[in-house]
Amino acid sequence: MTATAPTRTDTAGGTPADVVAEAARRRTFAVISHPDAGKSTLTEALALHARVIGQAGAVHGKAGRRGTVSDWMDMERARGISITSAALQFSYRDTVINLLDTPGHADFSEDTYRVLTAVDAAVMLIDAAKGLEAQTMKLYAVCRHRGIPVITVVNKWDRPGMDALALMDEVADRTGLAPTPLTWPVGIAGDFRGVLDRRDGTYRHFTRTAGGATIAPEQVFSAEEALAREGDTWLRAVEESELLAETGAVHDQELFLAHASTPVLFASAVSNFGVGQLLDVLVGLAPAPVDRPDEDGKPRPLDAPFSGFVFKVQAGMDAGHRDRLAYLRVCSGVFERGMVVTNGRTGRPFATKYAQQVLGRERETIETAYPGDVVGLVNAAALGVGDTLYAGDPVIYPPITTFAPEHFAVARAADTSKYKQFRKGIETLGGEGVVQVLVSERRGDGAPVFAVVGPMQFEVASHRMEHEFGARITLEPLPYKIARITDRKSAPELATARDVEVLQRADGELLALFTNKWALQVLERNKPHLTLTPMVAAE
Ligand code: GDP
Repeated sequence: MTATAPTRTDTAGGTPADVVAEAARRRTFAVISHPDAGKSTLTEALALHARVIGQAGAVHGKAGRRGTVSDWMDMERARGISITSAALQFSYRDTVINLLDTPGHADFSEDTYRVLTAVDAAVMLIDAAKGLEAQTMKLYAVCRHRGIPVITVVNKWDRPGMDALALMDEVADRTGLAPTPLTWPVGIAGDFRGVLDRRDGTYRHFTRTAGGATIAPEQVFSAEEALAREGDTWLRAVEESELLAETGAVHDQELFLAHASTPVLFASAVSNFGVGQLLDVLVGLAPAPVDRPDEDGKPRPLDAPFSGFVFKVQAGMDAGHRDRLAYLRVCSGVFERGMVVTNGRTGRPFATKYAQQVLGRERETIETAYPGDVVGLVNAAALGVGDTLYAGDPVIYPPITTFAPEHFAVARAADTSKYKQFRKGIETLGGEGVVQVLVSERRGDGAPVFAVVGPMQFEVASHRMEHEFGARITLEPLPYKIARITDRKSAPELATARDVEVLQRADGELLALFTNKWALQVLERNKPHLTLTPMVAAE
């Protein structure tokens, strides 16, 4: 592992001026895409360009690939999918880039949603042949909900695919964002010759390199040279680009930041083409961290004392580091390892002696971090998702919404002599948000209900209960399909209704579960005084 900490200016003492300057050179983003669109390939290529890692293939290995920095679970390897999230930090030019990994599998959208609370921008990666796929749309919906600016990258242009203009129509129709291509492909999908850079009219010619494991697959030519080289193919790109300009498809920074438009690039991640262009766009156009609003909507200035929030908690990284790890996004001030901060939820102090930068299995002690950076806090048993940590003036950031669960099952210890381990495991998984844990007096502590967005979360929970806590469980599916948030006043009346059950979630919230939407609709119509608040749908 050759990850290096980004070059940092000397900020001993962390005066406010440093913080503001350091924040300004940070870009914190995630890639959202459907499985197989090329996210891992793009991640590797970005890291390669930024020279964090010497050779593509070492960042985000999947089954059958070489490196395995961010995959850690046996199951994950067996399935060849990425379940956990890690943050990758590298420097490009004078910018520090924090790339937060999002799980690719549909059932992990809840986890992804949390990661998206910690980014300032998203790269929406689409497969040129498939357009906007289901998972991309779900993740996009989260970005829209949170107002996160989106940069679109059309990947795999080296393979036959859709017409470029048709793809732009699809982006516009389905996301509501106006696509404003920064580059335009020269050659149809499958005949990728390069791109017309719409910002300066130059031709960036795509040269194939063996295996894509080297940088520089691009040469820049003037428009005249491009015409001489590519003839009608170049003219067609120019014509289409002019057509786009006439319809107003020209980048506008304000519209992009206001989540009204999306700059678009065309790429071939596997050949590294378009990757340097994406890094330049991230540096040039993606927003740096700004003052983050607290739970009352009041922005906490970047140069206020340190603050941040936990967006992900994870345990059992591997046998060697069997502990609980909390990922914190720094929002204001300077984080210095060793500082003692306050947990806003509990009011208790938290010592950050073991702060680390985490890259899958590789850990590197982190000394200083600035707004936009992600810090992994080890031994974080006292921390939960959504917790705010601060130094100096108190601050509490808004809670992180959980998605509406759609699948429910009762968990029981398969071996009753392992009850202690069972309890500990349930508490940990609930705290991490692997599943939402619901209990009720009627069911008792020995039979908590797991509530999940996607059934695969059940598998992960079972696997971890058995392998990490030594408490094998059985899961008995329940017929519920819909959950609504309710309150103590409505609960007794709901409990007497048919096809409804009220349970309490680990965070104290009361959930009413319904077997079907008609049962819910009848109640809503006949008993409008009952509180039945919808939860954020994973769509
Ligand atoms: P992920 O599931 O989104 O992380 O996708 P991967 O990065 O694993 O890529 C899925 C498959 O598409 C792999 O076989 C890649 O080699 C391939 N792939 C990724 N990017 C490109 C590209 O630009 N062109 C072509 N032809 N294949 C690509």
